[in-house]
Amino acid sequence: MDNLKSLIRTIPDYPKPGIMFRDVTTLFRDPEGFELAIIAMARPFRTQRIDAVAGIEARGFILGGAIADRLGCGFIPIRKKGKLPGKTIGQEYTLEYGVDAIEIHDDAIEEGQRILIVDDLIATGGTAEAAIKLVRQTGGEIVGAAFIIDLPEIGGRSKIEALDVNCHVLVEFDGH
Ligand code: AMP
Repeated sequence: MDNLKSLIRTIPDYPKPGIMFRDVTTLFRDPEGFELAIIAMARPFRTQRIDAVAGIEARGFILGGAIADRLGCGFIPIRKKGKLPGKTIGQEYTLEYGVDAIEIHDDAIEEGQRILIVDDLIATGGTAEAAIKLVRQTGGEIVGAAFIIDLPEIGGRSKIEALDVNCHVLVEFDGH
């Protein structure tokens, strides 16, 4: 995982002063690093029944699509407000750097389907919490949430685990 961590670029003060932006595009462009990340994110879930991966826009789409393919299941997009064409349900959340809302198609998940949530990074856990609420509102059962990066000092992971969702993360970075 050290190799994987070294492929993630840090851009200080983006998108605002004080934020250390952990840029996974440098990992995505590396064929071996990207493959390793997908294999490692999917690994704990290979032995479980997963009906679909729900990926959070936008980096969660890149990871989630590849993980769904590896797990042999479907993919469901959780998008920023106003992007999905069908009838949606939405949830507001507070970001590490702002307020936003995400949406899911209201018919995306059938009652009792087992869903894995995927995003690149967990900071405050606000985005993942909103995604968990959306999946649960549409009748899904959450099997877990997988991220490449956790920022443990911010405490998002504990917040998600307090919602009874098992978090799988590959690497940790200090600070914000
Ligand atoms: P949060 O809701 O605070 O857990 O923030 C997670 C979401 O915001 C993820 O979709 C991340 O891609 C993005 N994000 C938050 N903080 C950072 C950061 N320091 N570097 C890169 N992405 C971040």
